[in-house]
Amino acid sequence: MILASPLTSIKGVGPALADKLAGLGLRTVGDLINYYPRRYDDYSAVTPIKQIKPGPVTIKAVMKQATGRYARRGLHVTEAVVSDDTDSVRLVWFNQPYRAKAIKPGHEYYISGTYELNFRRFSIMNPAMELVSDFPISTARIIPIYRETKGLTSRQIRAVLAEAVPVIRELPETLPAWLAKKQKLSHARALEMLHFPGSAEDLAAARERLAFEEVFQLTLASLMNKYELMHEQAPAVPFEAAVAKQFTDSLPFKLTDGQRSAVWQIYQDMARTQPMNRLLEGDVGSGKTLVAAMAAVMVLHSGHQVAIMAPTELLARQHAETFYQVLESSGYSHYVGLLVGGMTKQQKDTARQRMADGTCRLIVGTHAIIQESVDMHNLELVVIDEQHRFGVEQRKKLQIKAGHMPHVLSMTATPIPRSLALTLYGEMDVVILKDKPANRLPIITKITSPNSRKQLYEQIDAQLGAGRQAFIVCPLIADSEMLAATSAETMYERVSKVDFKHRRVGLLHGKMKPAEKNEVMDRFVRHELDILVSTTVIEVGVDVPNATVMLIEGADRFGLAQIHQLRGRVGRSHHQGYCYLMMSDSSEPSRRLRALERSSDGFALAELDLELRGPGAIYGTMQHGQLDLRIAKLSDIQLIAVARKAAQKFIDDGEDLLQYEELSRNIARLRAVTNLN
Ligand code: ADP
Ligand code: MG
Repeated sequence: MILASPLTSIKGVGPALADKLAGLGLRTVGDLINYYPRRYDDYSAVTPIKQIKPGPVTIKAVMKQATGRYARRGLHVTEAVVSDDTDSVRLVWFNQPYRAKAIKPGHEYYISGTYELNFRRFSIMNPAMELVSDFPISTARIIPIYRETKGLTSRQIRAVLAEAVPVIRELPETLPAWLAKKQKLSHARALEMLHFPGSAEDLAAARERLAFEEVFQLTLASLMNKYELMHEQAPAVPFEAAVAKQFTDSLPFKLTDGQRSAVWQIYQDMARTQPMNRLLEGDVGSGKTLVAAMAAVMVLHSGHQVAIMAPTELLARQHAETFYQVLESSGYSHYVGLLVGGMTKQQKDTARQRMADGTCRLIVGTHAIIQESVDMHNLELVVIDEQHRFGVEQRKKLQIKAGHMPHVLSMTATPIPRSLALTLYGEMDVVILKDKPANRLPIITKITSPNSRKQLYEQIDAQLGAGRQAFIVCPLIADSEMLAATSAETMYERVSKVDFKHRRVGLLHGKMKPAEKNEVMDRFVRHELDILVSTTVIEVGVDVPNATVMLIEGADRFGLAQIHQLRGRVGRSHHQGYCYLMMSDSSEPSRRLRALERSSDGFALAELDLELRGPGAIYGTMQHGQLDLRIAKLSDIQLIAVARKAAQKFIDDGEDLLQYEELSRNIARLRAVTNLN
């Protein structure tokens, strides 16, 4: 058995189990052993039966008897009684008819499960049970819980992993010797302890080792990207004060201080012959688009081309519109073009033609633009909105198209604390927009429960009556049996036919055809609709300043950062913005929702999310895979600093990466997915 072996080479894994594991993306032994636990349940404390209290418990007890029966059709119940020196307790399993036969009376078992009231009696429900004489993996220890799938439990995953322990033990070291020497554990030992921790201390040590290695590799990959980029050449875009001034003078508002310094920084970057690789980080509504437009003006003035990439077609269309408007006064509107999948072949051909002959010099589109066979020989600036993963491969493509490396400006609303941004985007120079346009009133955020829906609708209607517009965001498209949440379709029915039948209501969701989506969005932008019922498709970027109300249904189902992004769709003008967080039921709102009520600062909320939910919270706000930290806590400032230093030393010492087989494989993978930009 080696890392590349199929999972069926593991004892006990047949085609059926292998299929289920494949459903989790696990195909090889290597995939499996690198499948990290999501969390742990601590069942390590063995309690005498007399002392057990409701909640998770572990006991060590002798089996008396076990019986199985059908309580009613479709419900099989297995009951058993076990005892230790102090007392006896009942165990209950539902729908596990094979249980009774597998149980060996008279043997001593570790039993871990939840002790709770059921059918008016206290029992340990659905416990895991292992013979004391065996090597326990699901009882009497700290138990890892994995992301599961239908018909595949963490218990089964652990059992398969236990068979792979010999492979884990043979894993080679991943760090250079001089670094590995400073670590408490070897890579192999750390990985084994992550899956089978003997104690809380073991687990902490394992995590520390793996976290270090993660940050080290990530930083090394981005430093290598950075140094490689430094050797590239990009044509300089000379700064011309008059051009910038003409543009800002034409605006109906003044630039914020943040916008001013960000633009200044970008102008300096682009004036060099080294490619710019800058990340503009600013909370929702901080005015990033305008910064991009100012960068674009300077490039257009120098006679070159600009490409603006947006994550969705909706946003691309909107940006094309915005750029057309703001470039009017500079006389560059006619240079704006759009290239998105939803266009007809003829429209696309025209757009390509216009790019090739230079009548289009600012092309707005989705990421598909770089795949398209468009002539971009004159391309000098690429703007990536709502910053995406943009790997070495794409960078190469751009370079080939442009004939040189263009300047790249990435923009993100993901509020990542600065210390972190340095690690995650090590190869980029970061500039942060701290302030928001001065005319903004902070959004009023309120948690509401279904009981007060009527009053809420009256308040919303008053806003609509005053000429404003509203978003209603639902967690799902269509009703599902799994989740008792309101879907956009059901909501649309109710709102358009009953609650707001006197208003103009539209529906928008991800499964609609692009043309339909655009049509609905356009009508909302033109104020031909008062209410837009939608799913989270409107999460990124959409800018309709006249919309001042956002109602988020089933708010308890959304993450903190996601709600913050969503509510950034309102409060984009001098009108007061409102965000109502509708609970699924009348239960007590979480700390998360309370925090949203109190704070509108994306950075502060990100810190809180980090504290409440760990780094996963930040994953949620980013495109999947963008953040490759699985173990390291973003709050481990000390560890991050040490790992970064080590990566820098690796480079400064002129180490040859190819000398380290494991490391160079990992670095190659990371370099492909870390952000160019
Ligand atoms: P985001 O940073 O979320 O991408 P946008 O660029 O969409 O934000 O800007 C949000 C809104 O703020 C837009 O309607 C834009 O016209 C407006 N805006 C941008 N800069 C300013 C400013 N300096 N003063 C007033 N309004 C501004
Ligand atoms: Mg934006």
